[in-house]
Amino acid sequence: MATECIFCRIINKEIPGNPIHETSDVIVIKDINPKAPIHYLIISKQHIQDIQSFADCDAGLAANMLLAARDVSKTLADSSDFKLVVNSGKLAGQCVFHLHFHFLAGKQFSPL
Ligand code: AMP
Repeated sequence: MATECIFCRIINKEIPGNPIHETSDVIVIKDINPKAPIHYLIISKQHIQDIQSFADCDAGLAANMLLAARDVSKTLADSSDFKLVVNSGKLAGQCVFHLHFHFLAGKQFSPL
């Protein structure tokens, strides 16, 4: 299912993703086109298109994606501070329609 999805292909190990963190329902990889010194993608293993597509029963997955951000932040060298960004839908700038959080760190960010 959804085998044309680039993130599903990484999750299924059809192409290398070199996960830096992995749980039963989440993987974290480095973004191929980083927008910050540290730019990870926290990806749901389940193919969910976006946050609008979440079912109530996906609440545990949503929490686990946040817990993955917490765990990854503990591995950062200089500071555990980070910014989380989710592009949910085309108008928001989403390009890969498989739910993921952008984890950005390693510099001083401007407030939104
Ligand atoms: P979004 O615009 O929120 O859908 O973000 C998709 C992100 O996936 C972009 O930042 C891309 O650079 C990143 N990306 C696309 N393909 C890959 C890949 N094969 N490995 C790592 N990151 C990727």
